[in-house]
Parts: sequence; structure tokens; C-alpha cells
Amino acid sequence: MATELIIRGVDRIAGAVLPVLDGEAPHGPSDKVEAAPVTGNPVVLVGGLATTARVLTPMTQWLTGLGYDATPMAIGAGLDCAQRSVDVLTDRIRDCAEQAGRPVRLLGHSRGGQFARAAGAQSPDHVAGLVTLGSPFDLFSLALPTLAVAATVTVAGTVGLPHMARMSCLFGGCCRRFRELLRAPWPDGTPFTSIYSRSDRVVPVRASIDGSAHNVEVTGSHLELLTGRSARHAIADALARCDGDTNPAAA
Ligand SMILES: [Zn+2]
Repeated sequence: MATELIIRGVDRIAGAVLPVLDGEAPHGPSDKVEAAPVTGNPVVLVGGLATTARVLTPMTQWLTGLGYDATPMAIGAGLDCAQRSVDVLTDRIRDCAEQAGRPVRLLGHSRGGQFARAAGAQSPDHVAGLVTLGSPFDLFSLALPTLAVAATVTVAGTVGLPHMARMSCLFGGCCRRFRELLRAPWPDGTPFTSIYSRSDRVVPVRASIDGSAHNVEVTGSHLELLTGRSARHAIADALARCDGDTNPAAA
């Protein structure tokens, strides 16, 4: 119950903030994206910490407009145990791939990108490619305010709030497999693009650079990478590369 109240509160805040962010997002050349050449390819969009379904709506609508079959996932508003979230996501990826008859593209923002990377490593045959937006792959490179938020969540989970990460997720055995998957080599031949911004005050650049990825810099704040327009050209390009192209980082 308490967790539901927290998620409802986060959702209300998002409802107030998103229209402002959307209105202030830059309308530059990077906003102009040509239509996707292939329609109906499945994309699973994964939200991060404190992300509700409402926050994923602008990106979902944009992906649909490009011709993708988008499935938004705000798993426990990004507050839950990472391995549990990854297992839920892995099941959904398999379902989407089997329904579509082809592997899915994964697009994850922030902590959702971590979930997507780990789920993709767990189920590589169902994944056509991975695109992450401001996702940290080195948890100990995070900015102090971000670590403070993560610590607050884990303390709440540790004292008994349901569906929230616990200390054992961060340091103990609960999410050990998740931590290994997060740093595991990404499958050869499966495109992986990590999109990041130097204006991101939540996740520093050094945490988003992944040796297995094609790392792409854009502009915009942490939330704008998901809800704004500045990253969209890079996202469209990265998703389009998932049609069996070679991962440039592996080439
Ligand atoms: Zn855990």
C-alpha cells in the first residue's frame, strides 16, 4: 500500500513536469527523423527509477509514429529489486518476440537500460538490438545525489516496504546475477548503442560508456533523453541499425 502511494505520487509529479519539459525541449535538426523503413518491428521500452507509465507515453507515441510496435514497461516504477525486474522483463521480451515472430529491439532509459542490458544477456536469441539512454553501467560512478536516492529506496525496502529494492540487492546475494549480467560481454553481432549527454546531472558520462557499445553523445538533461526531442535522431538511427547490421564496437 505504501509503495502504491509512492508510485501514485511520482506519477502526479510526472504529470505536472512532463508538459513543461516537452514544451522546453529543443526543436533542432535532431528532431527531424525520417519514417522507419520497416513497420511493425517490436520495441520494448523500459522505464527507469521513479518512472511510471505516464512518463513513457511521449516516447511510446513517437515510436508508434515511426512504425514500430511499441510495448512500454514501467516495472514497479523502477523501484523494485533489479533481478526480479529483469526476470519480469525477460518473460515479456520472450512473449513479444514469439508473438511477432521475430526478435525485439530493447530501448531502456536510465535504470531501465540496466534492466534491458541484463535481460538481453539472459535471452539473446529474442533480442535484435539494445539502445540505452543515460543508463549507468558502473554503479559506483554515479553522482552523489543519485546514490542518495538509491540508498533511500533500498533503506525503505530493507525495513519492509514491499516491491522495493533492498540493501541485499545493492551489495548482497539477491542481485548478484544482475550485477554480473550488467558487466557481461554483450553478444557479438547484436547492435548495442549507449546514448548519453554531458548535460545529464543524474548519470555521469563515465558511467554510461560501455566497452561493448557504440557510444553516442547527444544533448539534453537526463529526463529529456526520454521525454524530449534532442536524442530522437540518435535513437531512430540506433533502432534502425538493429536489422542485422554489425555492431560497430565489435567490428
Ligand atoms: Zn534484488
